Amino acid sequence: ALPKLYIITPTYRRPEQQPEMTRLAQTLLHVKNIKWLVIEDADKPTPEITALLKRTGIDFEHLVAPMPAKYKNKKGSKPRGVSNRNRGIEWIRENASDGVMYFADDDNTYDIRIFEQMRHTKKVSMWPVGLLTKVGLSTPVVKNGQFHGFYDGWMANRKFPVDMAEFAVSVKFLLQRPKATMPYKPGYEEDGFLKSLAPLEPKELELLANGCTEILVWHTQSKKNSPSAAINATQYKDTNLI
Ligand code: UDP
Ligand code: MN
Repeated sequence: ALPKLYIITPTYRRPEQQPEMTRLAQTLLHVKNIKWLVIEDADKPTPEITALLKRTGIDFEHLVAPMPAKYKNKKGSKPRGVSNRNRGIEWIRENASDGVMYFADDDNTYDIRIFEQMRHTKKVSMWPVGLLTKVGLSTPVVKNGQFHGFYDGWMANRKFPVDMAEFAVSVKFLLQRPKATMPYKPGYEEDGFLKSLAPLEPKELELLANGCTEILVWHTQSKKNSPSAAINATQYKDTNLI
């Protein structure tokens, strides 16, 4: 049987939430045998997101995991999506026994071929992600079919200088590492999580996307929009917009 994909999507309420989640849902409608874990950085689920998830017919779990106040109220860069992803990992520990998990942020762009490639991950698989830093991508470097190093515009002494969208993890492999978790450390979330999967060495990585020569995922970002009155509105009734 096709291994199940557990897709963990952190999301939060903002004017772009409805369009981002609509696009991601319609991407995931093309992918078989998934469980979509949608986890909101919120105190309670957003009704418009619940309605969207139900409309799609995708097998989903809608959870909430607010960012702890000590990070939320901090100035400067915040650990975005970390509470959500850790809640997703916790759900997998309680409910899954095999398959593959992947962190799919709500604003990225996914070629559906990557889902079929990551589905067969035995430990941890990786591939290039486009549109990151000035260099334009983050990727493992492959030479003669073997792992050779990492290429990323911000190496920062990381053991795994990769993006959140750059890797998938076998659920069995995760379950064998009960302490694996994502740190609340802006910039070092991926590195911290992958290090917490020890023992794991870069040479063990499964290199996908045709030896990491193809870009199948992009770190796209929407510009911030201003219409606060339209936050999450999918219909205009009961508003004074028109
Ligand atoms: N996110 C969140 N709470 C926040 C900010 C972001 O849950 O306060 C989610 C967001 O929906 C996305 C992920 O965390 O799925 C990463 O956030 P973002 O895309 O803003 O980060 P970037 O891609 O710019 O690093
Ligand atoms: Mn993003």
